[in-house]
Amino acid sequence: MMAHTGTVHCDVLVIGGGITGCSAAWHLAGYGADVLLLEEFDLNTRASGRNAGSLHGQIQHDQFVGRGEDWARRFLPAFRFLVDSLEMWRSLDKELAADLEVSLNGGLLIAETSEQMRDIERKVTLERTAGVDSHILDSADLQRIAPYVSESMAGAQLCLVEGKANPMLAAPAFARAAADRGAAIRINTSVTGLEWENGTFTVTTASGKVTASRVVLAAGNGMNRFASLWGRPIPIFDEPAQVGATEPLASMVRHLVYYAGGKLTFKQAKAGTLLIGGGWHADVDPVSGRTKVNPRNLVANMRIALEVVPSLAGVSLIRTWSGAGLGTPDLSPIVGSAGPPGLVFGVYPHMGLTAGPLLGRVLARLVLDLPGEVDLKPFALDRF
Ligand SMILES: Cc1cc2nc3c(=O)[nH]c(=O)nc-3n(C[C@H](O)[C@H](O)[C@H](O)COP(=O)(O)OP(=O)(O)OC[C@H]3O[C@@H](n4cnc5c(N)ncnc54)[C@H](O)[C@@H]3O)c2cc1C
Repeated sequence: MMAHTGTVHCDVLVIGGGITGCSAAWHLAGYGADVLLLEEFDLNTRASGRNAGSLHGQIQHDQFVGRGEDWARRFLPAFRFLVDSLEMWRSLDKELAADLEVSLNGGLLIAETSEQMRDIERKVTLERTAGVDSHILDSADLQRIAPYVSESMAGAQLCLVEGKANPMLAAPAFARAAADRGAAIRINTSVTGLEWENGTFTVTTASGKVTASRVVLAAGNGMNRFASLWGRPIPIFDEPAQVGATEPLASMVRHLVYYAGGKLTFKQAKAGTLLIGGGWHADVDPVSGRTKVNPRNLVANMRIALEVVPSLAGVSLIRTWSGAGLGTPDLSPIVGSAGPPGLVFGVYPHMGLTAGPLLGRVLARLVLDLPGEVDLKPFALDRF
């Protein structure tokens, strides 16, 4: 990175210090690029540091049932993207020299009725076509591996590739490892303008201008601030969501757990707390624009948790929080280049913690014109 006449210059500028941007910076530095990452707040303070830590490797059951099998078939490339990213999670602790509290013991989608089991079987058949295997468990199998689950449950899908990680640790670990490779990371630096002229991007921040030959936009919900560069907004929308954490419990839950009968996910963090969520909507404060926990949804979420795990009745919830998640109309990611040459962007809706490591690598390779490892056609902006 060079500074001349008050303007800093870098080869590749990454905008956004969530998991996507930090992974991109690490990969870019590994490919030998001179990288600068700018983050408006601190690293990992938006969705990447506020999520529930699920590492997803199955098509979400409510979407499968609600949107149908044709949608699910179109979603398979996005599904495969998650699974390929999960493969990266297996070795991230070692590669980033950090304990990210990753465990990939599998995911359990619990069903209460035989109708739900039939839907699960159809879903597993489709997932197998994308190379992801699951076991179908009956009630007795389920009790054997998850004795805390209500005996009224009919069975489950055990998806072998899923798990969990600690979201508070992942993006910062990528950023530290990127800095070790020579990347420059600047926090508290909001990008307020992005222009392109004669092959160079000029970025405006409160602390001065930055010029760059190439730009990776990993700004999550903030992407469309720069939409005039490529002519139209990316169809993303905020999906504020919330999570709760119980007091620490003795080791009890080994899997990422979902429920086919309602919105519920939970897993046990390394510290012993159960993180309970499932995509429940949070509120948005009309004045500050900040997300805040919706108490009714919190109660509804806990009620479902109690149906599935009755022993939670005596357990205290000690913390809740919310964050601005992000959706796309078809639930597939939007990844590619648009506008001036050298500008790439990427968002993975709802499950972007899982997808972040691979999305960062894909964006790094795309912006450097290296051969692509993923067919990005299904994720192109022009599909809308
Ligand atoms: C409550 C909740 C639970 C979730 N649970 C899960 C889960 O269990 N598993 C899972 O896989 N996913 C989950 N998600 C989704 C996941 O958190 C996101 O998909 C993922 O973190 C997106 O990462 P990102 O780096 O693309 O975006 P972000 O984390 O939003 O990062 C973008 C960054 O860009 C910065 N930025 C924006 N504009 C500018 C600017 N102009 N200048 C400088 N910086 C800028 C922002 O400050 C931010 O830090 C959940 C989300 C929420 C909200």
